[in-house]
Amino acid sequence: MSELGARWDPMVDERFVHRVRAFTAERIAPDADRIDREDVYPVEIMRALAREGFSAIFMPEQLGGGGQSHRHALTVFEEVSYASAAVGISLITVLQAQTILRLFGNPGLQARYLPKLASGLLASYALTEANHGSDIRTLDTSASFDGNNWVLNGEKSFITSGSAAEFFIILAQTAKGVSAFAVPRDLPGVSTYEGSNSATFGLRNGPHINLVLKDVAIPEDHLIGEDGKGVRAAVTTLDYSRTMAAGISMGIARAAFDQALERATHRVVFDEKVIQKQGIQWYFADMLTRIDAARLLNARAADALDAGVDLSRYPSEAKLFAAKTATDVASLCVQICGAYGVMESAPYGRYLRDAKAYEIAGGSPETLKNTLAKAIQKF
Ligand SMILES: Cc1cc2nc3c(=O)[nH]c(=O)nc-3n(C[C@H](O)[C@H](O)[C@H](O)COP(=O)(O)OP(=O)(O)OC[C@H]3O[C@@H](n4cnc5c(N)ncnc54)[C@H](O)[C@@H]3O)c2cc1C
Repeated sequence: MSELGARWDPMVDERFVHRVRAFTAERIAPDADRIDREDVYPVEIMRALAREGFSAIFMPEQLGGGGQSHRHALTVFEEVSYASAAVGISLITVLQAQTILRLFGNPGLQARYLPKLASGLLASYALTEANHGSDIRTLDTSASFDGNNWVLNGEKSFITSGSAAEFFIILAQTAKGVSAFAVPRDLPGVSTYEGSNSATFGLRNGPHINLVLKDVAIPEDHLIGEDGKGVRAAVTTLDYSRTMAAGISMGIARAAFDQALERATHRVVFDEKVIQKQGIQWYFADMLTRIDAARLLNARAADALDAGVDLSRYPSEAKLFAAKTATDVASLCVQICGAYGVMESAPYGRYLRDAKAYEIAGGSPETLKNTLAKAIQKF
């Protein structure tokens, strides 16, 4: 990490930032290119993150978490993604399962799964279907109550972390509307396969699988929250994961910035270092300003999560701005590095692909602007 990178103002106590950085430098950075190239889920790294207490840092201690703030969680997502956004997105799906259970799950469900999720249970968050992406107000996957169990049928697609997940949060249509359910992977009738959209050019943490549910019977108490109120639970959960997604984008942007600065500081063109050219300095000045602004928005969104206020506004602003900033920064960094920037052996292609994919996953700019537009009309 460059001198400048080492001096990024910490969002929480400095010792915590250094602890996460030391872990990511030793355990994640050496594997980042391989995870992306081979498109594999980083199982061992995820278990190690859980052992360190990083994957449930914001959860209450009595539920197996670290009892820290969402700024601590944001630090984890940003630092982990400085090394590998694929590991960052693997953590996101665990965070989504933790969050929906913490906010909406009944006490039995919380006691059964939250400590396991804190100690390394791998999870996926399955909303999307072939005919329902941004619009999940109705779904084709169904759930009906047979007097003893909920019986689920249908298919989910594009499911991140699904190649390794041991536990799924899914949305399904009941007679009362869309509802949320907890589904362990080992139940009869649960299966996965790689569909035509499983391989993505960015955020490659293993194939984004299709999840098939065929007469899957789950206990009555595995309904999360109220029957028919699943969209609200899912969207509230997305407010939390969007803030962490903004942290992932910042990890990518900072990594691209640091690497480009390193190169510009040593590469000589026309008798000067690249960084001594004023046009290049202006690129860096613009990038630094946008990264700093994005990180301030992210910190505010994390504070809003702790306070439980303005959740439709701040997380949307944070993700909207951070995701675009990361794509623009990664692209400019390729530019600054010239031919080296587009070499396969350089990390910029990965930064750019991951940053662009995260402009779409977990809340596209269009849907985030719609959310903000609704918030504005309530001013
Ligand atoms: C890398 C990656 C990982 C993913 N992981 C998961 C996962 O783990 N779980 C999961 O459930 N899903 C996942 N998804 C799916 C993702 O949530 C959807 O791609 C997303 O909801 C958008 O849906 P769609 O692709 O069907 O686009 P569509 O809904 O078909 O939208 C097409 C375009 O129209 C825009 N649009 C939609 N509505 C409006 C509107 N009202 N006004 C203006 N523009 C609009 C969209 O922003 C988009 O640009 C993932 C996607 C990606 C790329």
